[in-house]
Amino acid sequence: MRIIVFGPPGSGKGTHSAILANTYGIPHVSTGDMFREHVAKCTKLGMEVEGYLRAGKYVPNDIVNRMVFERLDADDCKMGFVLDGYPRTWGQLIALDEEIKRRGWKIDAVVNLRVSEEVMIKRLSARRVCPKCNAIYHLINMPPKVDEICDVCGTAIIQREDDKPEVIKMRLKVYEEESSSLLKYYRERGLAVDVNADGTVEEVAMGIKKAIEELTSH
Ligand code: AMP
Repeated sequence: MRIIVFGPPGSGKGTHSAILANTYGIPHVSTGDMFREHVAKCTKLGMEVEGYLRAGKYVPNDIVNRMVFERLDADDCKMGFVLDGYPRTWGQLIALDEEIKRRGWKIDAVVNLRVSEEVMIKRLSARRVCPKCNAIYHLINMPPKVDEICDVCGTAIIQREDDKPEVIKMRLKVYEEESSSLLKYYRERGLAVDVNADGTVEEVAMGIKKAIEELTSH
């Protein structure tokens, strides 16, 4: 199963991509997580992209494409993958399409998570992440068992630099400008499904599962 998940910041894209990866036993390929790992480890790539992440701006296409295609080369992607946060620009979509064709693969479903602006802002201001293992928490709906400590690896959880209000607004603007035409492309090919993402994690996960089953059954 090869799935792409679309959704604005705060739509639950990371959480639901991880659930889908777990359900289908395929890797969760998140470009945001990959970049944050590079930044945390101060790799050459990390230093190149840090400024873009801090400002909530997109990393240039050639850098993103190269990183994603290298990841898709790994053995664990042979049976499928969940792409989270990619493609995000027209240049990325075209490059991905060519790469997928070149490998004789096809995309099975594009899930578009829709969320109201009010829910989006609420979720982002309460979101915390583990800088080591990327686990995601919500201070009210999904807090860690021990205050401010990651359940999975025991590291102190943090607020993402780009979840601060000024950067959220920039990320939203950038997302809206770019995403509509990309979704149109997948819609015209009968691959996109919209799912209401305002509900609880369980409700949204159920909605996504149903939508993918309907899409892939024809
Ligand atoms: P995310 O965790 O998906 O919200 O991504 C966090 C940040 O990483 C974005 O605001 C961008 O700076 C960068 N990023 C992630 N994915 C991409 C992409 N496909 N193209 C360009 N920049 C990206």
